[in-house]
Amino acid sequence: MRYRESTDLPFNAGALRDGFAAVKPGEPDPEEPGLWIVFRGGDLVLKAEGDVTFIEGEPPGWIVSRGSGLLIGTWHGKPVRVLEIGNGVAIPADYLAEPLLFTFFHGRLPDDLLTLAGLAQQILGWERKSAVCSLCGGATERIPGTWGKKCRECGYEHFPHIHPCTIVLVRRQDELLLIRKPEWPPGYYSIPSGFCDFGESLEECARREVEEETGIRIKELRYVGSQSWPFPGQLMVGFIAEYAGGEIVVERGELEDAAWFSDDSLPPTFSAGSIAGWMMERFGKGA
Ligand SMILES: [Zn+2]
Repeated sequence: MRYRESTDLPFNAGALRDGFAAVKPGEPDPEEPGLWIVFRGGDLVLKAEGDVTFIEGEPPGWIVSRGSGLLIGTWHGKPVRVLEIGNGVAIPADYLAEPLLFTFFHGRLPDDLLTLAGLAQQILGWERKSAVCSLCGGATERIPGTWGKKCRECGYEHFPHIHPCTIVLVRRQDELLLIRKPEWPPGYYSIPSGFCDFGESLEECARREVEEETGIRIKELRYVGSQSWPFPGQLMVGFIAEYAGGEIVVERGELEDAAWFSDDSLPPTFSAGSIAGWMMERFGKGA
């Protein structure tokens, strides 16, 4: 088993394996050469000649950036910066630009660099969303030493948005309850998940999501691990549960299918690097 604990999964800080040291947000840039984690709109831009990796040293001439890059920390002692380029910038043939989720699914980066890119994507997403106050439309400024922003007009303080979601592996003897969404690759299944609602505990969210999506009631709910999920900023909270009752009723608005599968004949599912895949591998056989 590649990942013993959920803390080893990509996108969790443990996957950075001590290579990364964060800086306090807003700390002055040392102006030394380093790594550039470049985004063009929703795409991560990577060097694709030889090993796929980040751009290092002086940014190449074709990069037309918005701003000078945001220092987020050091990677093995070198400054690491997030850099946004305009949507119209053409990417040369020896680079690639794709959504980070594709980079993940295709296994193009080792887990430590993938995790660093996920962190960069979350920070960039927050910087984009927090430039202007959502209450009054005023410009914001950084609250020193944090990722938080304070509105210059109304004084309201905004902090990064991390959304809790539960994800549940439901077992019935040697079967697992799986769902399929229409936008997934053909034949792919995974396990039920959903966002926490107002006034709801994680356990209540887990029970509600499973019942809403599949009509199945669960019992013996047990927390098994979590994963930061930078698409764009969820915290996936994983539970296992046992079947308590009910017949499958597929929630057609959101799902294409829901079904019980025997744990020795599972359909294609997402990578063991996602908490869904990890839970199916780690707890699918009643561990
Ligand atoms: Zn404001």
